[in-house]
Amino acid sequence: MHDFTQDLAELAAQSLARTRRVVAGAQGPVLEVDGQACLSFCSNDYLGLSNHPDIVASCIAAADQYGVGAAASALISGHGDAHEQLERELAAFTGQPRALYFSNGYMANLGIPCALLGAGDTIFLDRLSHASLIDGARLSGAELRVFPHNDTARLEQVLARCKSARKLVATDAVFSMDGDLAPLAELAAVCARHGAWLLVDDAHGFGVLGPQGRGSLAHAGVSALHAPHVLYMGTLGKAAGVAGAFVAGDATLVEWIMQRARTYMFTTANPPLLAAAASAALRVIERDEWRRERLRELAAQLTLGLADLPWRLLPSPTAIQPLIVGDNAPARALMQSLREQGIWTPAICPPTVPKGTARLRISLSALHTPAHVERLIDALRQAAGVRQ
Ligand SMILES: *Cc1c(COP(=O)(O)O)cnc(C)c1O
Repeated sequence: MHDFTQDLAELAAQSLARTRRVVAGAQGPVLEVDGQACLSFCSNDYLGLSNHPDIVASCIAAADQYGVGAAASALISGHGDAHEQLERELAAFTGQPRALYFSNGYMANLGIPCALLGAGDTIFLDRLSHASLIDGARLSGAELRVFPHNDTARLEQVLARCKSARKLVATDAVFSMDGDLAPLAELAAVCARHGAWLLVDDAHGFGVLGPQGRGSLAHAGVSALHAPHVLYMGTLGKAAGVAGAFVAGDATLVEWIMQRARTYMFTTANPPLLAAAASAALRVIERDEWRRERLRELAAQLTLGLADLPWRLLPSPTAIQPLIVGDNAPARALMQSLREQGIWTPAICPPTVPKGTARLRISLSALHTPAHVERLIDALRQAAGVRQ
């Protein structure tokens, strides 16, 4: 039998071994790690909803009403009234005819391409697409074509030459390592011209972008009415602060996905208390414009504060604010020096990002205060040796 001791030692030798730090208590901008308070710029809890009292209260009330487990897959008896109501609310919120609630975004991205495509079909992915879209594309059996990042002209060329009966273009709406946006209106138009579906993964835009946080399609002005070939995938574990995901779009397409997505069919439905919590989160997302306003203010503060550093902050209209350091070792050293000052900001190195673009992936939350961001700015300026 293979012994992985040597493989693990090699990972460690290449500084690729991952370790987990244990967080005590609830998530928030300040975490307790190893008994110490730690200022976090590493979570996807962009709106600060993971511990919101209204959402927690809905979850507890649902536990009283429904218990915990869903007891069966959704297509047997696991689909309850809390799940049904959440799907209706998600469809209404995203302005789509129908929504289907998945256990999480990874499962949605595996299931959707597999339901729509098979051998002889083609799937086109932006080069910077999330790992789950790549895995879904591979699992579907369709031919996988990768197009250069946000290059709609190049995509149009390859789509025009493609002879497959079914074509699916998939992309992140907000790219998770750069914080930049896909040109969704152009992509939707290119796909319409060439008879392709467009799957938009809005894990980082849902709740953050668009009017009332309705997401990246709303932000780009792409509506279901004019773009019935666009499928919208949103996740509920990031800005919504809960767990789960959904796909929304044309009723027939969504019905087909429900009939055929194996990651929907062959898994136990999420606990109803999570569906109830997600419904409560939707209400807060819609209501609390101040959370999105706060994110914009904090991003502006960061941009200003880091303007004269030797490292470049990528322009991003989202909560993801990457600071490009360059080589791996200095990026890791920077992460370490912040950590010694009680600030947690992850360094992201190749192969996750292109060579020479190792970075700190700073993520903001609406619960950060200007003083929190000032602490980060001071620490980074000090590390860079810039006069205060
Ligand atoms: C986080 C993420 C996912 C996976 O969603 P989960 O609900 O966490 O499984 C999918 N796509 C992108 C772009 C993500 O960032």
